[in-house]
Amino acid sequence: MAKELVVIALGGNAILQPGQRGTAEEQLENVRTTCRQIVTLLEEGYRVVLTHGNGPQVGNIIIQNQATDAVPAMPMDICGAESQGMIGYMMQHSLRNELVRRGMELRPVASIVTQTVVSADDPAFLRPTKPVGPFYDEAYARKRMAEGETWVEDAGRGWRKVVPSPDPKEIVELEAIRRLARDHAIVVCTGGGGIPVVREPDGTLRGVEAVIDKDLGGQRLATGLGADVFMILTDVPAVAVDYGRPTQRFLSRMTVSEARALQKEGHFKPGSMGPKVEACCRFVEAGGKRAIIGSLVQALDALAGRAGTWIVPC
Ligand code: ADP
Ligand code: MG
Repeated sequence: MAKELVVIALGGNAILQPGQRGTAEEQLENVRTTCRQIVTLLEEGYRVVLTHGNGPQVGNIIIQNQATDAVPAMPMDICGAESQGMIGYMMQHSLRNELVRRGMELRPVASIVTQTVVSADDPAFLRPTKPVGPFYDEAYARKRMAEGETWVEDAGRGWRKVVPSPDPKEIVELEAIRRLARDHAIVVCTGGGGIPVVREPDGTLRGVEAVIDKDLGGQRLATGLGADVFMILTDVPAVAVDYGRPTQRFLSRMTVSEARALQKEGHFKPGSMGPKVEACCRFVEAGGKRAIIGSLVQALDALAGRAGTWIVPC
């Protein structure tokens, strides 16, 4: 009986494939394929907690919000919550259906709308970098900038609002997630890294306009739960050095100190592999046994050490 607790961070390709428009059918079909992989891990005896990206989904919700004046537009934190509910539903639905199809025990499946605390004085708030929402013309952008927002011209395609990407510190719903996972529920949570909130001096929380990296948020979740394994599933088979060059080489295993050294040499691109390696290093440095980066289509092989990159202590 393995019964290791594995926190799995699912990449964008688990829900939406490049080139797709994002119809409900497309997303449900991708999620169904993803859930087959997850249920195979359950069959092997692993316990899993799932987290996922939400970039395209929250982007579409923001566009829908901006597209009409008939109903009031919602702020970013509420759009983030909507995206968690939408993806959570697709995952719950597909996971349950896959358990039924395989004739497996119908254990509880639940998604938790999750908030993640960020620090109000995170330097990221001084320098917003993440583009969100639709493109607008310059006049509109200038008007919003006069109201204090940050907008950038995006490679000739128009103007886009940018928001900060602060470091996640703490998962607010951790205890609820822990209890569900302990009782053998399959939990989907911390979507998009969690809805960013800051703690006020009186201890209350306030939603902020920001986006959290889903891999860094996933690490806080995995470490907070005391997971045995933190596994990031994406669209490449493993972590490479010299990625995209003729000398490219995939790594099957590295220690945290090796990973840190390669990180300093610039092998992992910011915004894609960079935060994944950072999240894995943090997980192992905080006492985790192993972190894994691998392909969504090789989840079981990666867990067993036959595929992907393992990041281990020392
Ligand atoms: P996800 O949506 O799963 O988080 P990302 O697009 O953010 O995926 O990150 C995965 C991408 O990282 C890969 O498709 C690859 O193009 C890129 N990448 C950058 N550096 C590396 C590297 N050193 N090794 C492997 N992939 C890398
Ligand atoms: Mg991606």
